[in-house]
Amino acid sequence: MKIDSWLLEILACPKCGGPLTPDEAADELVCAGECRYAYPVRDDIPVLLVDEARAPAT
Ligand SMILES: [Zn+2]
Repeated sequence: MKIDSWLLEILACPKCGGPLTPDEAADELVCAGECRYAYPVRDDIPVLLVDEARAPAT
C-alpha cells in the first residue's frame, strides 16, 4: 500500500470528519477521530465509503 502523505493530509473520514491513519499491514485507512472506522485501500486507492468501512471491534 502506498498513499502519498499530501493525500493523507487532505483526506478525512466521511463518517465523522476525523483524520485518517494508514494501517500498512491491513491495507486500511483507520479513522483517528471518534468513529474509528477502517476504510479499505484497493489498488492504492482509498475507498472512503461508510458502506465499505469496517466498524471497530467493540
Ligand atoms: Zn471517523
